[in-house]
Amino acid sequence: MLLTIGRPVDTEDFENGLAAVVEQMFEAMYEAGGVGIAAPQVGISKRFFVMDTRDPDGDRQPQVFINPEIVHVEGEQVGNEGCLSFPGLFQEVQRDMRVIVRAQDIKGDEFEADLSELAARCALHETDHCDGIVFIDRVTPLKRQLARRKIKTLQQTGEWV
Ligand SMILES: [Zn+2]
Repeated sequence: MLLTIGRPVDTEDFENGLAAVVEQMFEAMYEAGGVGIAAPQVGISKRFFVMDTRDPDGDRQPQVFINPEIVHVEGEQVGNEGCLSFPGLFQEVQRDMRVIVRAQDIKGDEFEADLSELAARCALHETDHCDGIVFIDRVTPLKRQLARRKIKTLQQTGEWV
């Protein structure tokens, strides 16, 4: 599921309980202390994700992106990245500093979000999930090898599910 390209969300999905699924994803994300979670991570092979990188005051700012498309990127940032699907694994990943994402909201209306820094990193990471790409695909081959070894160790110690 994680490595499969998600299918687009269609009208039928909007009518058939998409809002309830989105609510459950927010709950799971907050519970795990994450900043984003994509449908393929919860066993749904569709292109949508939720995220909350908080507003400047630290208050919750839940955002839903359905059928996300990155329409503009600019600059670069390098930072440590984790993923709820790879518990205990953190990798330095280079990402764009600013992105504009075009998506639909929970009602199906199209919008564009202009995001930077952590929000940009998160939106890129989650859009990747929608396209069957995971963050260790975004690092150099050597780092990926080290990551695989780390995953093996985590599996052996039972920290990996
Ligand atoms: Zn992830």
